[in-house]
Amino acid sequence: MAISDNLKRIEEKIELCAQKSGRKREDITLCAVTKKVTEKEAIETLSLGVKNLAENRVQSLCEKYDVLKDAADWHLIGHLQTNKVKYIADKVKLIHSVESIKLLDEINLRAKKADRILDVLLEVNVSGEESKFGIRPDEIWEYLEKMAEYENVRLKGLMTIAPIPQKQGDNRKYFYELNKLFIDIKEKKYDNVSMEFLSMGMSLDFEDAILEGANIVRIGTALFA
Ligand SMILES: *Cc1c(COP(=O)(O)O)cnc(C)c1O
Repeated sequence: MAISDNLKRIEEKIELCAQKSGRKREDITLCAVTKKVTEKEAIETLSLGVKNLAENRVQSLCEKYDVLKDAADWHLIGHLQTNKVKYIADKVKLIHSVESIKLLDEINLRAKKADRILDVLLEVNVSGEESKFGIRPDEIWEYLEKMAEYENVRLKGLMTIAPIPQKQGDNRKYFYELNKLFIDIKEKKYDNVSMEFLSMGMSLDFEDAILEGANIVRIGTALFA
């Protein structure tokens, strides 16, 4: 299937779910996950008007960045090792996968060296699956307190990866739960914290995620397969 046809179908679904949840299409950001495709497809995606590209590995992000540079807004969505932050600190718009204080310390340091402020999301393991990265929901509060200590990192929201669903609706409870936390935190005041982005939903469950409040969806397979 052509990327343009896939995109058209995805766009219709995003728009419909945005409406159903009382929002507009432009309130939702589509991140095209380019981890399984080459620069060629990434370039085509940009030409179709999708500006936000996401990679789950530092090396692949850097390789595509070398070609595309600032033509795209880059998102790092996969597990990030502390020793690799230095390669992406000057390249990414948003890191979705923060899940340790050690990582936050390093991001702060590398952002400072790059003379910028880096926006990050906390990855929360809502489903409790052992195979998943991410902090437990009850650990969020210590991270929120900790943010006051950083000068070059800002916490902009939450991210989750839900289990692989068997059918539509399976993951709604997890998305609902994270949105509830997102709203809870929004109502409180923490330094360097503003709950702007709720990154949840992938190819198989992005409609449910939007219905439950997601404003960033990360889609690979449905766009490129
Ligand atoms: C691969 C990946 C996606 C996209 O998954 P698809 O099912 O291909 O849409 C989204 N988020 C993360 C963190 C990923 O690693």
